Amino acid sequence: MESASMSGRRKDPPAIIVPQRSLVVLSGPAGAGKSTFALRIVQSHSDEGFRPSMVVSSDQCRVLVSDDENNQQANRDTFDLFHYIIYKRMLQDRFTIADSTALQPEARRRLLALAARNNYYTCLFIFNIPPEICAHRDKQRNRLVGEQVITFHNGLLQRVMQEAPGEGWNQMHILRDEDLFAQIEITHNS
Ligand code: ATP
Ligand code: MG
Repeated sequence: MESASMSGRRKDPPAIIVPQRSLVVLSGPAGAGKSTFALRIVQSHSDEGFRPSMVVSSDQCRVLVSDDENNQQANRDTFDLFHYIIYKRMLQDRFTIADSTALQPEARRRLLALAARNNYYTCLFIFNIPPEICAHRDKQRNRLVGEQVITFHNGLLQRVMQEAPGEGWNQMHILRDEDLFAQIEITHNS
């Protein structure tokens, strides 16, 4: 298992190197900072061709199918679309960041299976962010998930930390609050 070891300073973060045909999966509680992290990766690599469309977000899929970011009734259609977009991007050899909580084993299994079927490299980022910080961040944004959900997610997070190392990811990184400046680089010779 690899982990991003960083001093918390912006300078010289060791870049995480992945091939072009990679599926980067973010996993962590609501409010952990997954979408913010994904956006920052894309923005800081715009010169190298990174685009916001590289981030496929389950929340955006939820909006696309139901016009409502919080509509839990639309889960099945939301995730059908989420996986379908990721699959279609794999057919186009596109580098993709899957932005969802991926806290349930089945969610990660589905993404791993999709990657295996399409011969994609997999990289899992686990956001090991304490529930107090997630709840604090949650309160500061427009879309409020609530402390109950974050407590539930924190329980699932502890299981992810135990189970993910045995799931078969090509790379796995555990991000703490101070590691959120981790950088990703695509290598074009593999
Ligand atoms: P969800 O699973 O609900 O989509 P998320 O993990 O994508 O949550 P974000 O929406 O990225 O979380 O972040 C939640 C809030 O915390 C946002 O208001 C964001 O601006 C803020 N935030 C994200 N990362 C950090 C950080 N490193 N430091 C301080 N605030 C942050
Ligand atoms: Mg998000």
